Amino acid sequence: MITLEDFDTYPDFPIEGILFYDIAPILASPERFREACIDLMPPRDAQVDIVAGVDARGFIFAPVVAQTLGVGMTMVRKKGKLPGELLEADATIEYGASELVINPNGIAGRHVLVIDDILATGGTARAVAEMLEKAGAASVRFSFLMEIGDLPGREALASYEVASVVVI
Ligand code: 5GP
Repeated sequence: MITLEDFDTYPDFPIEGILFYDIAPILASPERFREACIDLMPPRDAQVDIVAGVDARGFIFAPVVAQTLGVGMTMVRKKGKLPGELLEADATIEYGASELVINPNGIAGRHVLVIDDILATGGTARAVAEMLEKAGAASVRFSFLMEIGDLPGREALASYEVASVVVI
């Protein structure tokens, strides 16, 4: 199981007042990286038809989980990085704002597992859920490596199944 000790911490990054949890030590160790991917797997009884990885650190873990589950994956990207007819949503995050997009193809009627490294304010995850629902997802659930418990991420996702490996 991944624990708080597996993360490096950087005070005042990327802006003053933010304590940034870095996943670099997890990625640097094949054992910890493997463990993280196992920890991010949904419960056995969860129905998952597709995994959505969130730009950028969700992209590291989502493909492994998707391949392990034997399902495909889709990318939630920052605006300007995907071609085609897209859905977009604005996300207010812990240290700024971002515009996210998805390609809605293949989402309607599917049960989606969204993977990202950290749940902070929930702004990113809310924006992702909004787009997936607009695309017709049958259900949306979340799996995070870490949840920052004194931020309102859990409340923001109150209507979804949310699993976090480490809650601080
Ligand atoms: P939220 O939208 O919940 O405020 O922030 C979550 C998003 O910002 C995630 O995509 C996550 O990767 C990133 N993020 C926020 N805080 C941290 C942090 O301390 N460490 C890392 N690695 N990412 C963070």
